[in-house]
Amino acid sequence: MSRLAGKVALVTGGASGLGSAICAAFAAEGAFVAVADVNETDGRPVVKSLGSTARFIHLDVTDSENWNAGVAETVAAFGGLDILVNNAGITIIGSIEALSLEDWNKTLHVDLTGPFLGCKAVIPVMKANNGGSIINISSTAGLRASEHLAGYNAAKAGVTLMTQSVALHCAKQRYNIRANSIHPGIIRTPMLEKVLAQSPDAPAMMDVWISQHPVGHIGEPSDVANMAIYLASDESKFVTGAACVVDGGSSI
Ligand code: NAD
Repeated sequence: MSRLAGKVALVTGGASGLGSAICAAFAAEGAFVAVADVNETDGRPVVKSLGSTARFIHLDVTDSENWNAGVAETVAAFGGLDILVNNAGITIIGSIEALSLEDWNKTLHVDLTGPFLGCKAVIPVMKANNGGSIINISSTAGLRASEHLAGYNAAKAGVTLMTQSVALHCAKQRYNIRANSIHPGIIRTPMLEKVLAQSPDAPAMMDVWISQHPVGHIGEPSDVANMAIYLASDESKFVTGAACVVDGGSSI
């Protein structure tokens, strides 16, 4: 298993859910991995399980100083940076009438400003390093709306088009930096458990989610991690600006 042999990756939100699955999958394919998160308690065990080719980086994605320090620490530890996965995210449920300005701002900061700052922080390093791959975790909620997700829809749709803008810029500048987004359907992670916990009838909500997926079930973190390996590897060298849907057919 060496599809990412010798490559260096920084994965935000690496302490949990999709992020920790992506970190494990990248390490299994031979990458050095910076597990970046604000949650050190959950992040350290992830690093421990991956061994000496992984490292925990304390990084709040909303803070540009954190980004500069985290990228510098990764480069100093592993000698470069080839792959960025902007995965950290939060979900706050609320329609346009229910969502407070505070929750709107929180969602936009983490889910959209985070990836924006991440792209800005890594492009100079990747440029100097002869290229790289940026993978932004959006959502099917970045492609179609739900009445309950005014802020999350806005942030994830922003990630979709920002990714394409980054892809075009880097391609036209001949940086050899690719940028693609992944749009997961509903995947079983701690974030999903938090959303379920906000529901008055969690089993009914799960049944609705399952019924939205033509394949008859929701997804697993490894489904998303497998797409991330492809986009991170040189196998996808002609793929940039793509919105890659991993959703059991739910957005058809
Ligand atoms: P999760 O809650 O399990 O993990 C999110 C991680 O992000 C946590 O470790 C958390 O500490 C970290 N994080 C939160 N704010 C941060 C910040 N400011 N700086 C750094 N780290 C921060 O969530 P998940 O389900 O694994 O989701 C990962 C990504 O996938 C998110 O962007 C989410 O929107 C997206 N997504 C998830 C699903 C799903 O069904 N689980 C579907 C579509 C998209």
